[in-house]
Amino acid sequence: MAKPSDSYTEDDAPKASKSKVDTSSNTIKVIPLGGLGEIGKNTMAIMCGNDIMLVDAGLAFPTEEQLGVDLVLPDITFLRENQDKIRGLAITHGHEDHIGGIPFILRDVTIPVIYGPALALGLLEGKLKENGLEETTVLRKVKPRQQVKIGCFQVEFIRCTHSIADSFSLIIRTPVGTLVHTGDFKFDFTPVDGEQFDIASLSRAGDEGVLLLMSDSTNTERDGYSPSERTVWAKINEVFSTAPHRIIVTTFASNVHRIRQVLQAAIKYERKVAILGRSMLNLAGIARELGYMTFPDGLLVPVDQLKQLPLDQVVILTTGSQGEPLSALSRIANNEHKQIKIIPGDTVVISATPIPGNERSVANTINALFLRGANVVYGRGAGVHVSGHACREEQKLMINLCKPKFFMPLHGEFRMLVRHAELAVECNVDPENTFVLENGEILEVSKDKAQVTGRVDSGVILIDSSRAFEIDESIVDQRRHIAEDGLVMVAMSIDSNCKLVAGPDVSLRGLILPKGLPAEEFVLKVQEESKRLLEEVASNQQIPKEAMKQQLAMGLSEYFEENVKASPLVQIILNEISSTKSRTRQSTSTREIS
Ligand SMILES: [Zn+2]
Ligand SMILES: [Zn+2]
Repeated sequence: MAKPSDSYTEDDAPKASKSKVDTSSNTIKVIPLGGLGEIGKNTMAIMCGNDIMLVDAGLAFPTEEQLGVDLVLPDITFLRENQDKIRGLAITHGHEDHIGGIPFILRDVTIPVIYGPALALGLLEGKLKENGLEETTVLRKVKPRQQVKIGCFQVEFIRCTHSIADSFSLIIRTPVGTLVHTGDFKFDFTPVDGEQFDIASLSRAGDEGVLLLMSDSTNTERDGYSPSERTVWAKINEVFSTAPHRIIVTTFASNVHRIRQVLQAAIKYERKVAILGRSMLNLAGIARELGYMTFPDGLLVPVDQLKQLPLDQVVILTTGSQGEPLSALSRIANNEHKQIKIIPGDTVVISATPIPGNERSVANTINALFLRGANVVYGRGAGVHVSGHACREEQKLMINLCKPKFFMPLHGEFRMLVRHAELAVECNVDPENTFVLENGEILEVSKDKAQVTGRVDSGVILIDSSRAFEIDESIVDQRRHIAEDGLVMVAMSIDSNCKLVAGPDVSLRGLILPKGLPAEEFVLKVQEESKRLLEEVASNQQIPKEAMKQQLAMGLSEYFEENVKASPLVQIILNEISSTKSRTRQSTSTREIS
């Protein structure tokens, strides 16, 4: 059922999208659930009367502080509570920050139909199958300039250029006016797949009148234009023509254009290619099957066959461009990869820039590669990477083509959104008509007015993907606390009168003590302090056990702060022992309060 179907006509539109169209509404509510104040989890609801359509549903990757968290998703309480109004979802392109949240949403919320480009739907289909969700929705492929009806919204998919093939901007016609959602874009006038940005359609929408433009803010701090993807070819060609031994290239697994160029270079210089990393293998398979890449059989070889080839006939394409510790490239750099070891003379091309927050781990990987004798080609000046997002001049062009009445920057950290709104003012948008929102805020737009009129739940859901668990935020706080300041556990057994029966047992983990203070000596002091605190706290007969533990923990925290200038996480374990005498034996039952 979820297999993407090629053709779409009004007749075979799913029933839900034919529900009674409410044209009486004279306002549109635009509700970003994710993607503002951050780069990631782009998810937007647009509401008109009784109809809600969604644009994208992505995930974000955790920050360094979110220890043990694998994925971050937006809170979808709003969607759950308005389930009956959801008519469908339009996908702009296949990046994880735009489609990665869909399987999680579909577990809770019914989306009757999902429209999107073939490549994005190909990637999504795999995710839905993995999660047993392929029967929960209908996937419909769209072509450039195709129009579909989602409730009262008429959505036109316009070809745009970006770092993944088959990307769209959306022109959304509503009873109130026309909205343009750019998706992620740059203006690449020489795209490697020949698919030109459909500037004419944007311009047409601008002439018809655009009520609200919502535009990608990622590169709003960069002047000028983002160079064309094609400029990377010259540098790749140069590396391939001069590299004496193996060439190892890393890029984003989803960067179809880049992977395609590396494969072309391999063909030109008669090298074989081995792909490392599940996500990259998966994408190459889907992209080839759907016709986004063509290459001869025999170009790709399994990694275990590389040994049989001369070094100057080998290319290794690998994940790990962000220095992810478990990625193939990190393991190669640290000499921990089973099959691939760096040989002096290898050339490694880092064909990506670090996402903010990943700079350190990428730098560590590059250091380790140099240390093992590789020649590493990396960094902005090297010419082996270009951004997939519009810089300031391109953002201006977008605003000028659409000539919107209202402007709302998307897809960026807060300062980027502010800079982008300023840019819109430079391009003649009335300053009163620019809206820098936070996730969850509702922008209500009528023909002649727009304003923030409220907010919906907009928190985050943290996921441990290895166990498919949602993680409570307080647990992540605890992990961070332990990582920064260590952990102290104090266990005591008490009787029903709160008198100490055994203990305190004290264990210190990761706590740094002042020089000259041996741990054994400090443990004795902590035991004394624990006894003293217990007597003090227990003098209040009425105190519940939970409150008692809290007071003990607070007292010890103060003690650590004063005596060793540290604030470890303090864990108190109280065992309450009640003794019952019987005629034949004495039994002891223990109840742990933790
Ligand atoms: Zn994005
Ligand atoms: Zn993207």
